[in-house]
Amino acid sequence: PEALTVGELANRMAVRGGDVVKAMMKMGVMATINQTIDADTAELVIEEFGHRIKRVSETDVEDAIVPPQDVDADLKPRPAVVTVMGHVDHGKTSVLDALRKTEVVRGEAGGITQHIGAYQVTTDNGQKITFLDTPGHAAFTSMRSRGAKVTDIVVLVVAADDSVMPQTVEAIHHAQAAGAPIIIAVNKIDKPDADPSRVKQDLLQHNIVVEEMGGEQLVVEISALKGTNLDSLVETIVLQAELMDLKANPDRTANGTVIEAQLEQGRGAVATVLVQGGTLKVGDIFVSGATWGRVRALVDEHGARLDAAEPSRPVEVLGYQDAPSAGDDFIVVDSESRAREVAEVRARRMKNHLASQGGRGTLEQMLSAI
Ligand code: GDP
Ligand code: MG
Repeated sequence: PEALTVGELANRMAVRGGDVVKAMMKMGVMATINQTIDADTAELVIEEFGHRIKRVSETDVEDAIVPPQDVDADLKPRPAVVTVMGHVDHGKTSVLDALRKTEVVRGEAGGITQHIGAYQVTTDNGQKITFLDTPGHAAFTSMRSRGAKVTDIVVLVVAADDSVMPQTVEAIHHAQAAGAPIIIAVNKIDKPDADPSRVKQDLLQHNIVVEEMGGEQLVVEISALKGTNLDSLVETIVLQAELMDLKANPDRTANGTVIEAQLEQGRGAVATVLVQGGTLKVGDIFVSGATWGRVRALVDEHGARLDAAEPSRPVEVLGYQDAPSAGDDFIVVDSESRAREVAEVRARRMKNHLASQGGRGTLEQMLSAI
C-alpha cells in the first residue's frame, strides 16, 4: 500500500477507528478517520497496539529501482559471458591463464596485468568474449542464490587422466539449473595416461552425449599446459555464442552485477562489475546492494582507464561509498538523493533481517497477520 488512512489501519489491526484516533492523540497527533498518515506515524501506531511492522515505504522505494525495460528494436549484439568450471586440479586456472596469454601474445598494451575477477579477450576475428575468473563453484552458487544471472556459457574442464569427478557433476548441475549451455574441454591430453574417450563415456551417465556418440554436446580436446587446441576452444565458444544470439541495449543507463569487491588501501571500496545492460559512464550515480556511489573511475583488466563500459564488459568501478558483495546488483539512478534513499532502505532492511531472522515480518506479512 502506498498510503494508509487511519480507518484502513484500524481495519487491518481489527480495532476501532476511534481507538486509533485516541492513541494518536496521546502521541500528540491530531487525526481524523479518513486522514492519510505517513509511514513513520503508522509504524508508531502499530507498535502502540502491540504489533510490529516493516515500513510501508520501503517496498515502494525498492520496487521503483529496476533496470529500464528494453524493446527488441533497441537490442544489439553483445559478447558472451563465460564461466570456467570443473573438478579441482583439472585445469580451470590453467585454461584461464592460457586464454589470457593468447591476449598477451596478441600484443595488447601489456597484456592482462590486473586481477579483476573477470576479463575480456578479442579473438582473431575480432569477436569479444568475457571470462569470469571467479574462484570456483562457491561464487557461482552464491550469485545464483542471489538471483544474479551472469553466465551465458559454462566451459566444463575435465582432465583426460582423471575423467568425471564429483565437482564435475556438481558443475553440470549448476550449469543446467542456470540454463547455461556447456562446452566440454577435455584437458591434459598431453599426458601419457590421458583417455579422452573414457571422459566422453563417463559423461553419458549425466545425459551429456557428444557428437561422435550421436549427441550434440560440443567438446574440445585441449592441453592448457602445451597450448594445444586453445584456438578450437575459442572458436567453439564463439560458435555457441552465435547460436544464442546474445543481445542487450547499450543506449540507456547501465545495470549489472558485482563479480567481486574489496576495500583497497588508497583506492577505497572497489568492485568488479559486469555491465549487463546500458552503458556505464564515469560520473554515473548508482545503487549497488546496500550501498551507493558515483563512478570516479572505470578501470579495465589492463589497468587502463575507460570513459565508458558497454554490455558484457567487466570493469573495476571506483567511487563506492562502501564495498558491496559478490552477486549484488548495480543500477544507475538519476540522482544522489535517490541513490542514498534506496541504499539506506536496503541497509536498514538487511540489518532488521539480520537482527531478528524471522522475528520481525514484512509489512505485508504483518498486516495480513493482524
Ligand atoms: P584447477 O584447480 O582446476 O584450477 O587446476 P590448475 O589449473 O591449478 O591445474 C592443476 C594442475 O594440473 C597444475 O599442476 C597444472 O600445471 C596441471 N595442468 C593443467 N592443465 C594441464 C595440461 O593441459 N597438461 C598437463 N600435463 N598438466 C596440466
Ligand atoms: Mg584453480
